[in-house]
Amino acid sequence: MKNFILIFCLFFSINISFAQEKGIINNTNSSHVKFKSINIGDCKWTEGFWADKFKVAEKTMVPYMGSLLTGDTGHALNNFKIAAGMKKGTHQGMRWHDGDFYKWLEAAIYVYAQNGDQKLLKEIDEYISIIGKAQEDDGYLQTQAQLRGDIERYENRRNHEMYNSGHLFTSACIHHRVTGQTNFLNIAIKHADLLYTIFYPETKHYGRFGFNQTQIMGLVELFRTTKNEKYLKLAEKFINRRGKYEVDHVASTQGYPIGDMVQERTPLREADEAVGHAVLALYYYAGAADVYAETGEQALIDALDRIWENVTEKKMYITGAVGQAHYGVSTHRDKIQEGFIDAYMMPNLTAYNETCANVCNSMFSYRMLGIHGQSKYADIMELVLFNSALSGISLEGKDYFYANPLRMIHNTRDFSRNKDATELEEREPYLDCFCCPPNLVRTIAKVSGWAYSLSEKGVAVNLYGGNQLETKLLDGSTLKLTQTTQYPWEGKVKISIQECKPSPFDLLFRIPEWAEGTTIKVNGKAIKVKLKAGAYVKINRPWKPGDVITIDMPMEVNLVEGHPLIEEVRNQVAVTRGPVVYCIESPDLPRNTEIIDVYISGNTPLKAEYFPELLGGVATIKGAVLLRDSEEEGMYRKVKKPKWKSYPTQFVPYYAWSNRGKAEMTVFMPVVWGQN
Ligand SMILES: [Zn+2]
Repeated sequence: MKNFILIFCLFFSINISFAQEKGIINNTNSSHVKFKSINIGDCKWTEGFWADKFKVAEKTMVPYMGSLLTGDTGHALNNFKIAAGMKKGTHQGMRWHDGDFYKWLEAAIYVYAQNGDQKLLKEIDEYISIIGKAQEDDGYLQTQAQLRGDIERYENRRNHEMYNSGHLFTSACIHHRVTGQTNFLNIAIKHADLLYTIFYPETKHYGRFGFNQTQIMGLVELFRTTKNEKYLKLAEKFINRRGKYEVDHVASTQGYPIGDMVQERTPLREADEAVGHAVLALYYYAGAADVYAETGEQALIDALDRIWENVTEKKMYITGAVGQAHYGVSTHRDKIQEGFIDAYMMPNLTAYNETCANVCNSMFSYRMLGIHGQSKYADIMELVLFNSALSGISLEGKDYFYANPLRMIHNTRDFSRNKDATELEEREPYLDCFCCPPNLVRTIAKVSGWAYSLSEKGVAVNLYGGNQLETKLLDGSTLKLTQTTQYPWEGKVKISIQECKPSPFDLLFRIPEWAEGTTIKVNGKAIKVKLKAGAYVKINRPWKPGDVITIDMPMEVNLVEGHPLIEEVRNQVAVTRGPVVYCIESPDLPRNTEIIDVYISGNTPLKAEYFPELLGGVATIKGAVLLRDSEEEGMYRKVKKPKWKSYPTQFVPYYAWSNRGKAEMTVFMPVVWGQN
């Protein structure tokens, strides 16, 4: 009997160690996923770019944002306290403010997963206990509706109940995975059970309910956590229903925003382009990818493939940003706000590019990476992270951009008429609409979880950065390795294996699409496998502790032009190096230079140089710009031969712009050939 128990215990413990069920998305048991998530905390940044960013997240972003949201400025925790009967007062903040608080909690949990700070966990658990007290007996939990007299339960989809629910589910699942506790998870389950009773039955009244549909992702994650299939079925129901009902049929969804704006004009499986509000769209597509990962339905992934291609080939900025327009129309002539418009219509100055939308682009791509195991998805994640995500926050970690245009000219961003966060010329410490800041901070806090994936027979290196990985392959064997690199400032990456099984397994390395000419050596010898940029290279062999892999990606400076159909960048170029997009901004130009007078010579020599003290440590691109003397006025002017003045200067990473005072900036510059 003793032996039996021992064998049983052994078997049980091995079984547990096999399962990697603590990923950012837990796709361990998802049948239709090629790349599975590593457990949160398996990868820790050690040095370099992401280690520095994580440190800012840990020391500044999360605590500072926490002080806002739990204090009177943000008033998010106050809303829960008032709903819990612990405080007197009224609801303040947007109707989606609960969701933004859950996102901050998620960020704090990722930080705890890395540093194990018990004080932080105690703080998190105190907030969870307040959230629990605010929850009603039947599971309902929406402080905006509980505290405001003008909002009725589930009567208007614009009240963002689904958005708040989705972030609650996700945050609670992450908390459970990291801590093993159920206090937050139980709140989520109780709430999801209520949603199921109301929204699972097919009713005309709720046929078009759901606006910003993060509940789909959240419900799939809740299914993965609890194994209760009803949450997956409910998630799928929200997709099946979209586009099924005639627009404008019930009071709760009448009038604007309707149709393409909320992705309901065309059923998802028939869609071939990304439409509408970019944040709504990408959360929806990401949720659908989660559903596909479980169901394997061909029509669903076919549609998501078409949509992903449409976004990244026709509606995405060079920075990975999406959601071109503050206002516009869809191809079905539905009014669009903050979202996707026509293909190749890419304004620079008035680009909307909400930080959330950019972050969602990387979330959608991470899910597609899991499903297909192809490097193009990780290329987009990386592009977003290094450019249009990080541009949303100051280097110090306390100020935020809501919109991320590619050009800034003072006093021109008044297209909305009402002064709001979308036309800020500088980052602000608090935005009334607080969706973007915690979305970005939770992303910065979790990038380490995206850096590697578990492939069928090994590990894929998705993102480069100095880190230590300690994980288990899908067969349960331990793998420990260290990555050393100054990426993205240098293209050399060294990976040293500390511990692994003796039998052969795969190491997959992403060769970014821009990294033509990359070389890889194992223990100093060039590998025989043919390398292709824009694909993972797979090396299968018996690995042993002490093995060293060196990857050398050429970090050339490039001038990049847009597709000829992007009229807004005709005869203009941007400077890029590796995954980083550069810009020119006022501090690097003569005093009083207007950015519209800045041109670049197509022949100008460009050279990267690293400055540890500048902008938190960046490689700038040394080169020259051409300044044009333009005194002419009027909307149209007779052309005179321009007088050029060459000005030696530097280009700085786009994400780091607006950290040296109020500045004008541009990513794309008109190019002049034959002039230096
Ligand atoms: Zn946002």
